[in-house]
Amino acid sequence: MSHTAHKFDPTILREYDIRGIVGQQVHAADARAIGRTFGTLVKRKGGKRVALGYDGRLSSPELAAACIEGLTAAGIDVTSIGVAATPMLYFAVYHLDADGGIQITGSHNPPDYNGFKMMMGKKSFFGEDIQKLGAMAAKGDWESGQGKATKKDILADYAARLLKDVKPGKKLKVAWDTGNGAVGVSIRAVVDKLPGEHFVLNEKVDGTFPAHHPDPTVPKNLEQLMAEVKKRGCDLGIAFDGDGDRIGAVDGKGRVLWGDQLLVLWSRDVLKNHPGATIIADVKASQALFDEIHRAGGTPLMWKTGHSLIKTKLAELKAPLAGEMSGHIFFADIFYGFDDALYCGLRLLNIVANSKESLATMRDKLPRLVNTPELRFDCPDDRKFKIVEEVKARLNKAGAKLIDIDGVRVSTPDGWWLLRASNTQPVLVARCESANEEGLERLMDDLKAALAASGVTLPDEASAGHH
Ligand SMILES: [Zn+2]
Repeated sequence: MSHTAHKFDPTILREYDIRGIVGQQVHAADARAIGRTFGTLVKRKGGKRVALGYDGRLSSPELAAACIEGLTAAGIDVTSIGVAATPMLYFAVYHLDADGGIQITGSHNPPDYNGFKMMMGKKSFFGEDIQKLGAMAAKGDWESGQGKATKKDILADYAARLLKDVKPGKKLKVAWDTGNGAVGVSIRAVVDKLPGEHFVLNEKVDGTFPAHHPDPTVPKNLEQLMAEVKKRGCDLGIAFDGDGDRIGAVDGKGRVLWGDQLLVLWSRDVLKNHPGATIIADVKASQALFDEIHRAGGTPLMWKTGHSLIKTKLAELKAPLAGEMSGHIFFADIFYGFDDALYCGLRLLNIVANSKESLATMRDKLPRLVNTPELRFDCPDDRKFKIVEEVKARLNKAGAKLIDIDGVRVSTPDGWWLLRASNTQPVLVARCESANEEGLERLMDDLKAALAASGVTLPDEASAGHH
C-alpha cells in the first residue's frame, strides 16, 4: 500500500468515536485509513495484535474488511470476532489480551449511520486521541508491514464469563428486548442458562431495525417491552441499545427505571462488599442517587457526562461502580469496568432474585423527587460552550451555588438545574429537579432567565433524548 495521505470528513472525528452517514461521510477508504493509522499507533507502542468486531448493520461487513486491510498493512495481526455487541469486543480485548480493539458500530443511530469505537490497550481511545489519528492520516504518517487476519468465535467464553457472576435466587420471569441490535448474537447463550422463564423480543440481528429504534432512553422504544411484561406477567423487562453498551429497564408494572434509579439499586448491592467505596455518576443524575449512595455508606462522586470520561475516571480512582443516566453502567467490583448492558441486566436479576421485594416495590421506595427528563435543544457548535461560559460568569458574579465540572449545575433552595453543552452534537442539554412541582416551575424559570440573558429561548418542544 502506498503512503498516500487520507483526509476524513472532519465531522466524523467525534469526542468518543468516529461516526457518520455511510456513503456520504464514511466510506470503505475511511475504514482502511482508520485501520492503518490505529495499527500504526499500536505498533509504535510495541503492540502487535488488535481484536475487531462489528454490529449488525448492513454496511458493517464492508467497513470491517477495509479496516482489517488497513490494520494488516500497518503490520498488525487482527483477530476478528465477527458480529458482536460492543462490550463483547471489549471482552475480547481482555480475554485475548490484545493490544487494542476496534468495534464497527453505529450504536443507537439510524440504519444509514456507522462508525468506530476504539480501545488502545485496555483503555478508551477518545478525545485528543481521535483528533491525533485524523492528523496522522492526513499526513500519511503510517507504518508498513504484513499482518495476519484470523477469525475467532468467543461467544461461549463470553457467555461463561457473564454467567459466572449470576446469583440464583427466586425464579424470575423476564422479558428481554434486544431491538434487533447486536446483543441478539449473545442473548440466547446467556438466558438459556439462567433459572426462570425468559422471553426474548426482536432477537434477530437486523440492521434495518424493523421493530423500533434501538435506543432504550426514549420511552416510545420501550412500549413493546412494557406490553410483553404485562402480557406474560413478568417480574421485569430489560432492553438494550443497538450495540449493547446501554441498558433500559421496566418493572413488573411496566414502569421505566432510568439509569440513575437503577444505579441506586446497584450501588446498595456493591457497597455491601465495598463499604465506603467511591461510586461515580454523571452531572445529569438525580440528587437522590448521590444521597442514596451516601446513605448506603458510599462516597458519591459527580463527574462529567460521556461514557469514555466516566470509564477513564473509574479506572483512575479504582472505583467499583460508575454510571450515567443514559444507561452506560460500569461494574468494576468483580467485572472489567466496561459498559456491558447484558452483564448489567444479570446484575439487576441478582438483586431482584435475592430480595423479598419486587422491582416495582423497590422503585416505589426510591426517594420521590420531581424532575424533567433530559431537555435537549439545538445550539450551534461555535456558540454552545460560550453560552454556558456566559451563564456561569453571571451566576458566579451573583454568588450562586454551583458545580462546574461539566457545564453548570446550580443549587437553589428549590433543588437544582443543569445546563451543559453536548460534546457530540450542536445541542445544549438542561435538566431540573425539585422536591415538588412548584419548586420545579421556579427552577425552570431560573433556567429560562439564565438562558434569556444570553439571548437563548428554551423551546417548548425541548425533548427527552439520549447520549
Ligand atoms: Zn451504544
